[in-house]
Amino acid sequence: MPLPSVLVVRRVPSSVLELLRQHCLVDAHEGQDLARDELLRRVADKAGLVSVLTTRIDRELLEAAPGLKVVANIAVGYDNIDVPAARARGVVATNTPDVLTDSVADFTIGLILAVTRRIVEGDRLVRRGVWGGWALDFMLGAELRGKQLGVIGMGRIGAAVAARAAAFGMGVAYADPSGDRPASTGAGQGTRMSLDELLNTSDVVTIHVPLTPATRHLIDQRALARMKRTAYLVNTSRGPVVDEQALAWALGEHLIAGAALDVYEREPEVRADLLGLENVVLAPHLGSATRETRTAMAELAARNVIEVLAGRPPITPIG
Ligand code: NAD
Repeated sequence: MPLPSVLVVRRVPSSVLELLRQHCLVDAHEGQDLARDELLRRVADKAGLVSVLTTRIDRELLEAAPGLKVVANIAVGYDNIDVPAARARGVVATNTPDVLTDSVADFTIGLILAVTRRIVEGDRLVRRGVWGGWALDFMLGAELRGKQLGVIGMGRIGAAVAARAAAFGMGVAYADPSGDRPASTGAGQGTRMSLDELLNTSDVVTIHVPLTPATRHLIDQRALARMKRTAYLVNTSRGPVVDEQALAWALGEHLIAGAALDVYEREPEVRADLLGLENVVLAPHLGSATRETRTAMAELAARNVIEVLAGRPPITPIG
């Protein structure tokens, strides 16, 4: 039997390519995103597709690849995939949950510290050569101990952030419509709240929901206006969950104290009005970006492809 062929849309570690090549014929693209027409052309004869969050897997792509059996997204989020359309055509879709949870949670804590303790703002000031030396009241930030972390989306990553926050002496509140998750924070149970109550009472609000039609612009002008003037907003989920225009307005008007973002509405574009603000930390979508985690993500995607193409169930199916 000829080996099934698989398209890999981005550079992955060589160990992962070797693994795939033991089971498949691999067409590996090394650069940034393939142009759409080239993607459609190269996927046309493939049985497997290893995709990333910028690969739009829609009806058009599925129709262009009639022999496609599996799409393995190297991400836990899958807002780039039309899952019902894939299912309707018998294409299995998979993601990479769990292997990135710790790395994203660590990064989220990094952003919380960066914005509340003004680390990036301070770095800019030192580099400009305008630091005048130590002073008792110089560049004061906010302490975390005794404050409330509001977690929107208490799933895998939300719970891992909550557990870390407990070690900093923070209390944890969370909003999540799913009733079936244990909201363990590492220091006991967090307090479940409505979204409005969480926004009203939290000192740091951190977002860990998937991007869906229901969560698009979940944090809009109305939500931002509910937050304390001393509160911070952190988003490591997906950019469109926050209305960026409203956020830039709220930061500019000092309706909230600050924000830290890893994700944006139109990546890699970042709004000019955000770039001009001191009270926002802007990271270039690095949540899962450690060598260990990215390798684990790519390997899990490859293993999903191998399993499905061998006629076995996927390891981490979507849905
Ligand atoms: P998860 O499915 O374990 O958790 C998501 C949680 O959000 C669930 O508990 C769900 O019930 C909850 N939720 C859904 N809609 C909600 C709403 N309207 N209000 C409140 N809660 C809601 O997923 P996870 O593994 O924790 O990942 C969360 C998201 O993080 C992913 O979907 C992805 O978009 C994002 N992410 C970003 C990066 C990055 O690089 N910045 C990396 C990994 C994941």
